[in-house]
This record gives sequence, C-alpha cells and structure tokens, in this order.
Amino acid sequence: MLGGGQLGRMFTVAARTLGYRVIVLEPDLHSPAAQFADEHIIAPYDDQTALALFGKACDVVTTEFENIPAATLEFLAQYCPVRPSANAVKMAQDRIVEKEFVRSCGLSPVPFATIRTPADIAAAQGSVTYPAILKTARFGYDGKGQVTVKSAQEAEAAFAELGQVDCVLEQRVELEREISVILARSTRGEVRCFPVAENEHRNGILHQTIVPARIDSKLAEAAQTASARMAEQLAFVGVMAVEFFLTRQGELLVNEMAPRTHNSGHYTLDACITSQFEQQVRMVCELPFGDTRLLSPVVMVNLLGDVWHDAQPDWLALLQSANTKLHLYGKREARVGRKMGHYCTLAADTDSAIQEAEHIFQQLQ
Ligand code: ADP
Ligand code: MG
Repeated sequence: MLGGGQLGRMFTVAARTLGYRVIVLEPDLHSPAAQFADEHIIAPYDDQTALALFGKACDVVTTEFENIPAATLEFLAQYCPVRPSANAVKMAQDRIVEKEFVRSCGLSPVPFATIRTPADIAAAQGSVTYPAILKTARFGYDGKGQVTVKSAQEAEAAFAELGQVDCVLEQRVELEREISVILARSTRGEVRCFPVAENEHRNGILHQTIVPARIDSKLAEAAQTASARMAEQLAFVGVMAVEFFLTRQGELLVNEMAPRTHNSGHYTLDACITSQFEQQVRMVCELPFGDTRLLSPVVMVNLLGDVWHDAQPDWLALLQSANTKLHLYGKREARVGRKMGHYCTLAADTDSAIQEAEHIFQQLQ
C-alpha cells in the first residue's frame, strides 16, 4: 500500500482480515495505516532504493493517495503489478487533464476554462460566467486551493495569490444535490458499482453521506453507467470514485474522479456485505467481486478535528446509539478540518437515519 492515511488503514484491515500481509510505504513515521501493517517502510515516494525494496517484497502494489508521483508507480511496475496503473492515477492528478478526459468519454464536466496566464482569465469571459471558482489544477483536496470569485478582477487577484500555477476557472453551478459512485473494476474488465451515495459538503469538505441517495433510479443508473465508462476508458483496475453534481436544471455533471477508495464510500463498511476496502483487496489480488448490495439505509458522518477542542469528544451519546458504528483513524493530532474518524448510523429508513445521525452530531459539539 502506497500511502499511510485512513484509506490505507481501512484497506490494510480488510487485507489482513483476508489473510494477506501488508507493507505500507509512507514517509510519515506516525500514520493511520502503519499501525495495522505488517511492515512500514518510512521513505519519500521518490526514494528509489526504498521503492526497489518495497517492489521486490510485494506481490502487488496499490495506492490510497492520488498524488503518488506517476514515476513512482511506473518504477514499481518493473517489480510487480501496480493496480491502478500510473496512467489511470495520473489522469486524476490534474483537473485540466481530468476534465478533458471526461469530455473524451462523452460526458459533461462542469463548464470551465483553462487558466495558465492572466490573459486566459479575460479570454474566459465567453465560456464562464461569474460567480466562478478558481481551482488549482494540481494538489487540491477538501476544498483547498479553491477561491470563489465574483468578477474577472477578483479572478486575476486570486490567480496571483495562488502563485499563477495552472488553474481551472469553473462555473459555480447551482446544486440540487451532489452524488458519487464508487465502483470496482477487475483485471478482466468487469465492473461492479456500489449503491449511489448522496453527499453533503460543508466548507468544501464532505460532511455526510446518505444512502440510498434521494434521487430517481434512472438518474442513479445514469451516474453508474457514466462512471463505468470512465473506468473502462482508463482500463482501471481497483476501486475508484466519481463525484457528480446534479444541477437545479436537472443536468448530471461530472465534478471529479478519484483513482482510489473514497470518503463517500465509508458507508459500505457497515451497510454493505462487502466494503469498498475489501473490494479493493479483491480487485488487486484478482479475487471475485464481493456483493455490493445495501443491507440497510445508512448515514455516514465525518468527524473532523473541529470537534476535538482540547481532548477527545465525549463519545457516550454516539455509543449509546446501538445502531451507530464509530471508526477512528488513530491520528495523533487533531486540527480544524482534519479527518479524524467517521460514524455510520443505520436505520429502517433514510429519514430516521438522517435524524439520528444529526442528533448524535449535535451532542458531539
Ligand atoms: P476537492 O478536490 O477539494 O474535493 P471539489 O472540486 O470536489 O474539490 O470541491 C469540493 C466541494 O466544493 C464540492 O463537493 C462542492 O460541494 C463544492 N464545489 C466545488 N466546485 C463547485 C462548483 N463548480 N459549483 C458549485 N459547488 C462547487
Ligand atoms: Mg471533491
């Protein structure tokens, strides 16, 4: 496993449950995944000596982090299969490349203009109207590297502020809902989707995921078909996620994709027969698909460092909800906006799950 964050941690647990041994390569000494791994190689992602050791020791390599340098994945492919491939991961590292890829699949990205120079902002007047969002093409996550701008002047100022790195200027769309699809694709090219998730973001960070999504089944199918098409075009092997915007006008737009398991798929840990992490293990190890059926309506709520204050929150209210499962990631330090854990509340219907999850969330503040 390349990367030692919470996604790597939950993958490691799933892999070891199936009897595999896991080596985590992660530069940070203290990482969520290494706590569960058989071995931890502490090295930067471009350390060739460490990578050679890692590659020789592994039967297959996978990742939890889309910003692993493509060169690292290519290098490791000398030693063993790397799933997903460098090419598939690379596509998700740059919003400009990603949006062009979405178009090449016959799907619609959010309307955007590529911004490489200040002059590109003036030239974007025809294609993007304000308010818009200027996003760095690379290394953005949890809403970082994004600035909402109300005019070309503001966009120019924001572009300067971001150091004139390559950006996209994106239309700010009026959202009816946000949804996501997590899917698995095998080495044989078969695709299996998890049920569509409905996502609510706060300050650019996922707050909660509601499953089943409160959308009609045709739209859910359209999102799954679109996601499968992207996976096929990439010859993707492993688990990936596609985030969609459903606009007030009823359009389905592709926001972005992740070549890995995804925060909006954490509900599968408690509400599906197979979790997204076990499915990743199954795909990279060439095992059959696990069943992706939803066993119960579920709401997953993220626990950010914001609720830690000085010490851990008081978990009593959460633990007293017998149909709620707590997952903590073992991070040593809580910071505002940092993902520390999540919980899943299961109930007989979606509305009850939403209410109960919200009640618990209030108790944690
Ligand atoms: P990240 O890589 O940080 O997840 P996203 O592009 O997915 O970045 O943006 C995070 C969230 O910000 C989205 O899930 C959505 O809630 C909001 N957002 C981003 N872009 C737009 C947009 N063009 N219009 C409306 N909301 C947006
Ligand atoms: Mg996103």
